[in-house]
Amino acid sequence: MNSRGILFRLSLFALTLTGLTAIVAPASAVRPDSSAVLSPVAFETINRPTPVMGADNRQHMVYELLVVNQSQLEIDIRKVAPRAEGNRLGQPLTGEKLAERMRVNAGTAGTILSAGGSATIFVDATYSPARKRPEFLNHAISIAWADPENPSEEVRSTFIGVSTEVPPMKPVVVAAPLRGTGWVAANGCCNLNAHRGATLAIDGTIRVPERFAIDFVQLSSEDRLFDGPLNDLTSYAYFGAPILSATSGRVVGLRRNMPEQVPGSLPAGATIQMAGGNYVVVRIAKNRYAFYAHMKTGSLRVRVGQKVKAGQVLGLLGNTGNTDGPHLHFHIMNSPSPLQSDGLPFVFKSFRGQGVVRNMEEIPSGTPADIGRELRGRYRNALPLENQIVRFGR
Ligand SMILES: [Zn+2]
Repeated sequence: MNSRGILFRLSLFALTLTGLTAIVAPASAVRPDSSAVLSPVAFETINRPTPVMGADNRQHMVYELLVVNQSQLEIDIRKVAPRAEGNRLGQPLTGEKLAERMRVNAGTAGTILSAGGSATIFVDATYSPARKRPEFLNHAISIAWADPENPSEEVRSTFIGVSTEVPPMKPVVVAAPLRGTGWVAANGCCNLNAHRGATLAIDGTIRVPERFAIDFVQLSSEDRLFDGPLNDLTSYAYFGAPILSATSGRVVGLRRNMPEQVPGSLPAGATIQMAGGNYVVVRIAKNRYAFYAHMKTGSLRVRVGQKVKAGQVLGLLGNTGNTDGPHLHFHIMNSPSPLQSDGLPFVFKSFRGQGVVRNMEEIPSGTPADIGRELRGRYRNALPLENQIVRFGR
């Protein structure tokens, strides 16, 4: 950074953070080393990522950055590039790609933060399994704004920072929670979708319990979700399919008697307390819990305190809680509370990939799935990716 750049940044802080001029003026006091850069935007990682092997044969580090514009200027986020050991991790997020993964909390599209604005960036930093697992990661970040003294001039700030540890943890290995063919991993990893986007501030702390959650729906032999009226549960052949415990463990939470919802639309007035409908929480190990949601009314076959084995039937697939069609919502989390927890990565011991649904937004209205040939084949210890079709068992 040249001295002109530094001056511009200092003037920015003097302009925007009135009263703090005295704090930023002795530049040496706030510059831990000669390359440090004052940034009007703060970035913070919400979670420390554990790498997980995806069905694309890449290791995925899935985490979110909370971004706060501390200035009174409009600031454009130009680049966020995850790095480890001085090298890039996956593709840098810029332009359209960044906009797709950045949710500006004011609701505006694009990568611009208004004065005082904030956003969440949903990162999926990937690397080849041949590469050494990183112990830390950081980011090359570039931001820009119009010079307040000369608005036709752009000021750009580029720095490397926002370091986080990659903890020495492994994904939870689980067995299949369902049997059979044609199960679609809807809202699965690793884009910004309904699961990942549920960055809930619970009691004032941001939680992303559904970071790796999957909504399993099953295609019929005609590659459809249902046959008959959309709003009739009996149209969905997989309604009532057995839900198997994906792990051994002990049941620590459940709900049994929520009524079925009418498929085709979300229930009105849903609360977070009823969102999971009928559910089971199984404690697998310390800080490791499995969550099975939206189960069929009265179908639970377990009680709290009961020990379960992998493959044991917990209950049946239903359409209870905050749901617009029968599905199994499955995720692994670090506490017994489905909301007040952090979503953790998991891998299925074994599954067969059967392609990818390309028209996911169309199939809930009855359109047959348009199936791409990607992600086919036998997988071991991998996480199915968003909209991948999987077969469990033989
Ligand atoms: Zn879900």
